[in-house]
Amino acid sequence: MYMMKKYITLCVVAFAAVVLLFTVATTTKQTSTLSTDKRLHITTSFYPLYFFASQIVGSHADVINITPSGAEPHDYEPTPQDILSINKSQLLFLNGGNLEAWGEKIQQIIDPKQTTVVTIGADITTQTVDEDGKTIIDPHVWLSPKLAEVEVKRIENAIEAKDPANKNTYQQNATALLEKLNTLDTEYTQGLRSCTQHTIVTSHAAFGYLATEYHLTQLPIAGLSPDEEPSAQQMASIAQFAKEHQIHTIFFESLVSPKLSQTIASEIGAQTLVLDPIEGVSKQESQEGKNYFTIMEDNLRNLRMALQCH
Ligand SMILES: [Zn+2]
Repeated sequence: MYMMKKYITLCVVAFAAVVLLFTVATTTKQTSTLSTDKRLHITTSFYPLYFFASQIVGSHADVINITPSGAEPHDYEPTPQDILSINKSQLLFLNGGNLEAWGEKIQQIIDPKQTTVVTIGADITTQTVDEDGKTIIDPHVWLSPKLAEVEVKRIENAIEAKDPANKNTYQQNATALLEKLNTLDTEYTQGLRSCTQHTIVTSHAAFGYLATEYHLTQLPIAGLSPDEEPSAQQMASIAQFAKEHQIHTIFFESLVSPKLSQTIASEIGAQTLVLDPIEGVSKQESQEGKNYFTIMEDNLRNLRMALQCH
C-alpha cells in the first residue's frame, strides 16, 4: 500500500514536471514572438499617464490604461486581465508617491526582462498631506502643468529608449505636448495673479502642487483619498474656517459623491463648483471631447470664479 502510494506520488510529480516544462516552453515561445513583434506595447496605471503617453506615441504604439474610465486610482486593484496586459507590455508607467496601492506588488510578479517599470513621479512627489493624523506623500503632481512637463519628458525618454526607430515622431509629439503645457501654465499664472480670495476648499487633498505653484492655500475637507470620511469635528472646523474667511465656494469633483461638499456649502450658504483632479475620465466625458487640457481649462475657469480673480 505504501509503495503504491509512493508510486502514485511519483507519477503525479512526473506529470506536474511535464506540465511545467510544457508551460515554460509555451511561455518562452510567446515571449520570443512578442520580442520579434516590432510594435511597442505600453501600459499606464491611470489617466494622465495614459493621455501623455498616447499623445507622444500617436499611432506608432499601443497604450493600455489599467484604471478603467470612471474608476478611482487610489483604491483600484488590477484584475488578472490587467496583469496579463502588463506582462505583455515592454513599458509600465506608474505615478508613484503611493498613488497606486498595487505599485510595489506588481514589480515582484512581472518579468523585468520583458517589462520595464518607470515611476514617472519619482523625486517630484515632494509634498506631503495629513491623513488620519499621519503625514504621507502627496502623489498629485500632474495637476501642476510645470510638473506635468517633467512627467512628459520622462515618458518621452522611456519610450524613445524602447523604440529608437520612431524617435523623431516621438520627439515632435512630445515637443507639441510640452508647448501646450507651457501655454497652460501661462494661463494659470496670469489667470490667478490677481484674486480676492486665495484659499480653495476642496473635497479631497488633490490640489497641493497646483496650490503651491500658483500661491494658493488648499483646505481639503477629506484626506488624500476621495472616499475618506472627515469627522464631524473636522466638518465643523472647515465650516467655521469658511465662514470666518468669507469663502463662497466649496469645490467638489466629478468622480466622487458631492454630498460632503454640498453639506458644508449649504451650512455656510456657499455655492459648489467642480474642481476635477483628473484621476480618470469617464466614457461619457471622453465622448464629449474632454481630456487633460479641456479639464484643466474648466478647472481654471471655476478657480477664477471662486477666488474672484480679475
Ligand atoms: Zn487623489
